[in-house]
Amino acid sequence: MPFALVHYHEVALKGRNRGFFEQRLVHHLRSSLKDLGHIQVEALPGRIRVTFSEAHTVETIRAQLSRTFGIVNFSFAQSVPIDQFSTDLTRLKEAIGREISAYPFQTFRVTTKRAEKRFPKTSVDVDREVGAYLCEQTGKRVNLSHPDLTVFIEVLEKEFYYSFKREPGPGGLPTGTGGKVICLLSGGIDSPVAAYRMMKRGCKVVFVHFHGRPYLSRASEEKVRDLATLLTSYQLYSRLYLVSFGEIQRQIVLKAPAPMRVVLYRRMMMRISEAFAERENAWALVTGDSLGQVASQTPENLRVVTEVTSWPILRPLIGMDKIEITKDAQTIGTFETSIEPDEDCCTLFVPPHPNTRCQLEQVQQCERMLDLRGMVEQAVEQVELAECTYPEYSRIQV
Ligand code: ATP
Ligand code: MG
Repeated sequence: MPFALVHYHEVALKGRNRGFFEQRLVHHLRSSLKDLGHIQVEALPGRIRVTFSEAHTVETIRAQLSRTFGIVNFSFAQSVPIDQFSTDLTRLKEAIGREISAYPFQTFRVTTKRAEKRFPKTSVDVDREVGAYLCEQTGKRVNLSHPDLTVFIEVLEKEFYYSFKREPGPGGLPTGTGGKVICLLSGGIDSPVAAYRMMKRGCKVVFVHFHGRPYLSRASEEKVRDLATLLTSYQLYSRLYLVSFGEIQRQIVLKAPAPMRVVLYRRMMMRISEAFAERENAWALVTGDSLGQVASQTPENLRVVTEVTSWPILRPLIGMDKIEITKDAQTIGTFETSIEPDEDCCTLFVPPHPNTRCQLEQVQQCERMLDLRGMVEQAVEQVELAECTYPEYSRIQV
């Protein structure tokens, strides 16, 4: 199988932006496959062709294509040249006839797409002619609605491509078409799924994690590092800001009534994240909030948290329940890591009875007793930055 043909859907709908979306997809594929060597990625009309020469690379290519946003489906295909001015399908029929015997099936259909409209036979003509040939050759029957096997044919300017299977891609939009966002990544189940959702819409996601040091161990950091590494397989490169939050929490505990702590923590997280959003030239903040899930996510508290910043806060999981989110986490591959025990800063100084309906005025009153600006400045000054170039992880200096 020397080719993978990549099909996109939403990308194709983008009118005059189509070139840009296509270019991002090609760029992403080139970067993700570059270590394989001898790989060519080219945009053909309406599809992208990945050419490779070494058969053993198929599995790596398959794994990469199935996690490249913007791809609706792909197939491993063979080609047969089209002789100029000829409508003869003999070589195509014979090639398919030879290969089809490797597949177990009783019924089949042929599905042709003619990208090159100047080719004088229509898609239906090709379906019929190749179908009749295969019936005769194999003795098998055509079943258009529920075939055991589908033969896909694509007619391009200089060649036919044929394949026997279409494999699903993840859909969405190519990485880099949705700008950059900052995702508040905890060690839990939800925020990695929120990050994935935004990646799927074409965003590059930068992570910020708040850890409980100096009062807690590095356990949550290691977990978040693993989560960031897993998520990097979708966007190839990530940055992770590690913010020391333990001292800020201690200040809040000293000055504010216990039931308000959680909302005060969240507002501080937003203030600090804004600084990274600015530094990274991002356009929004992202959280894994889901309405009503815990005390910080009641309508009232979400509103008070949102009020603290003029940046858009995206909450892609807001309407999902835990079962749906968990299922997504399993599909994405972050679930197993998320459920490992840790010491998240959220477990530090958590009140037994958090207020589920904090009033903005009360919260602001507490904040007047805190050196907000000093706390943000210190957090930003002391931040550690890590970098992940899939699959490597490394800590770097800011
Ligand atoms: P998750 O499963 O993502 O941890 P959760 O259900 O535990 O979410 P909360 O603890 O209320 O809910 O957190 C809500 C959101 O706030 C998280 O999804 C995340 O975006 C952000 N957040 C919470 N704790 C942290 C943290 N320590 N570092 C970074 N972001 C955090
Ligand atoms: Mg959490």
